Amino acid sequence: MNKKCFGVDLGGTTTKIGLFEVNGTMIEKYEIPTNKEEAGTHILDDIKVFIDNVIAEKSLDANDIIGVGIGVPGAVTDNGVVNKCINLGWDITNVERILKEKTNFNIKVGNDANMAALGECWKGGAAEFSSMFFITIGTGIGGGLIIDGKPINGYNGAAAEIGHLPIVYDETDTCNCGKKGCLEQVASASGIVRVAKRFLSTTDIPSTLRSEESISAKIVFNEAKKGDTVASEVAEYTAKYLGLALANVAGIIDPQCFVIGGGVSAAGQYLVDLIIANYRKYVFHPCKDTQIVLASLGNDAGMYGAAKLVIDVYKN
Ligand SMILES: [Zn+2]
Repeated sequence: MNKKCFGVDLGGTTTKIGLFEVNGTMIEKYEIPTNKEEAGTHILDDIKVFIDNVIAEKSLDANDIIGVGIGVPGAVTDNGVVNKCINLGWDITNVERILKEKTNFNIKVGNDANMAALGECWKGGAAEFSSMFFITIGTGIGGGLIIDGKPINGYNGAAAEIGHLPIVYDETDTCNCGKKGCLEQVASASGIVRVAKRFLSTTDIPSTLRSEESISAKIVFNEAKKGDTVASEVAEYTAKYLGLALANVAGIIDPQCFVIGGGVSAAGQYLVDLIIANYRKYVFHPCKDTQIVLASLGNDAGMYGAAKLVIDVYKN
């Protein structure tokens, strides 16, 4: 029988579990609620029980499962220790050791954004590249760095955390990390809404945004595409800082490509083109033609990456 593995994307609300062939074919995907009660102490048990059920249901041989990869929403060290997940209620937790003891499978643990990056680099938007920088723009902003096909965690497990790159030097509001001027404050979904409200309050220019009951990043980009002046300025302001941030990343990492994912990337090529224009304005000239592309695996990227992480270590 062909060897298989599980790729798990552990989120604050739901846990996505994918069953994969080692060649990267997704056989099946599942979703279970993440039980955060009692400081998240049930989460790893729930994953173990679910995986056991899948193995029984599909009459798989446990010997054919090469391991379980798992992406978690927090900083992770190379040996699978998670340095607190506020989202899950976890303190410092050795996920690799605990899950191995529970399941007896080989376990590899990575940061969720790094896993999404690895997934996109394996089967998604950056499949033809071996080094890439992934930026996921949703409620917050995350990042993942892949060099020579491997995710880079960094010494503190916080490599590629581009959301809190200090970049808006005249920002007066405080970010939820406690600092001022983070990229996330102007370019995440919530940051875009904040910028839109600020722009609307400082100008009398007519805008369809004024008649919206509740502004969202999606509405801002939709109206910008239709030519609304204020919405276009917001989109341009956001893209300026995204382009500037990626130009800074290029100056240090010089990846083969950048991949843009997350809910806000639904704005599509319009957003990518704005980012490219600004990136080229700021970047050091040898990096000016580096590709910036849209992610293509959507919400499945983290499962693909987690599977790839464990496959790379244990396939032989
Ligand atoms: Zn911040």
